Amino acid sequence: MAITAYKANIANHTTFGIDVPVRLVDISAVDELREALVRFPQALVIGGGSNIVVTAPPEQPVLRILLKGHTVLSETPEHVTVYVAAGEQWHGFVEWCVQYNLGGLENLALIPGTTGAAPIQNIGAYGVEQESCFVELTGIERSTGRTITLQKQECKFGYRDSVFKRERANQIVIIGVTYRLAKPPYTPHAQYKDVAELLSNNRNPTIQDVFQAVIQIRRQKLPDPAEIGNAGSFFKNPIVSRVVYQELKQKYPELPSYHVDDDYVKLPAAWLIDRCGWKGKRCGAVGVHSRQALVIVNYGGATGNDVRNLAVQIANDVYDTFGVTLEPEVSFW
Ligand code: FAD
Ligand code: NAP
Repeated sequence: MAITAYKANIANHTTFGIDVPVRLVDISAVDELREALVRFPQALVIGGGSNIVVTAPPEQPVLRILLKGHTVLSETPEHVTVYVAAGEQWHGFVEWCVQYNLGGLENLALIPGTTGAAPIQNIGAYGVEQESCFVELTGIERSTGRTITLQKQECKFGYRDSVFKRERANQIVIIGVTYRLAKPPYTPHAQYKDVAELLSNNRNPTIQDVFQAVIQIRRQKLPDPAEIGNAGSFFKNPIVSRVVYQELKQKYPELPSYHVDDDYVKLPAAWLIDRCGWKGKRCGAVGVHSRQALVIVNYGGATGNDVRNLAVQIANDVYDTFGVTLEPEVSFW
């Protein structure tokens, strides 16, 4: 069946809830995706719209990836390897893993969006990144229309980063991802501060315990996009050299930091933003969340440029105060 582009408001397909007219094409089968890429080679791609700020109506249609299903590919005494279609909800897949006592992704519970977007920024939370279970992904290469498979090393995963944000940006539409999950006995990662505190009376937390703990913490701490528009953390946590860190630490002894390697440390962007006085500040229809300085919110009626302007002001302030550059985590369209 031929695909069709229809008029829509992107507010209904993104967690920021910003009104922008677009033309959408629903993609429910790989053949539809091939056809769409022939007709609209420069089309944008959207999953759950939880990491996007739209500032102007895009000239090209937006392909909404709705490919569904997952298949167990193989099983050994230690592992189960599963292929998940790109349009599956990420949290639903994590839930499925936990239901079957398959470990590895439980710390990534409740992250909004689709499985196909998970490798793009190598989603991470509570001490775990999707790359730890990632095997390979399958996608359609825009330039050739070929189905290609990329192994883990080829994806060059980093902190909220991958080849899909750099040299292969917009070159591949992901149609499915393969993950390898651990069978029991498996020890989940429960060392992240908030998780460890919540499970402090539990000596041997199970996959299910960590999954539930993460859900409980996230529900308490993070603004729900169903209630207030946002795209989660707006900026990445900056990684600076130890030399820069030492200089800052002398000036700001209470500055928190996290080890990256012998040469670099990660600074919590939320702390830097908070210190500049932005936490809870409102500028018209946009603002910085009162509990989470890393989250920019839409109080209703905001434009993409309102969000962008606020982000620029915050980043400038942080740079002027600390000499540290904040990089957005979200994508701008
Ligand atoms: P979209 O926003 O639809 O797209 C994001 C980017 O990926 C776009 O550039 C898009 O073109 C591209 N893309 C999407 N699908 C495909 C595909 N199939 N093929 C090729 N390109 C594609 N992120 C974390 O890492 N950790 C968190 O803990 C976390 N918590 C969040 C909490 C909240 C409340 C919110 C709103 C966001 C959070 N995020 C978090 C960010 C976001 O959920 C993730 O980045 C998620 O993976 C985005 O998925 P999506 O389907 O919504 O992608
Ligand atoms: P938090 O626990 O208050 O910690 C603040 C920041 O410090 C986090 O961003 C985290 O970096 C870093 N951090 C804390 N403990 C760390 C450790 N032991 N080692 C390395 N880094 C550490 O953060 P939060 O806002 O409540 O979020 C909790 C988790 O959910 C975090 O992992 C965060 O990334 C994730 N999250 C992500 C988004 C998003 O949109 N990307 C939105 C909500 C929550 P990391 O970010 O590198 O973990």
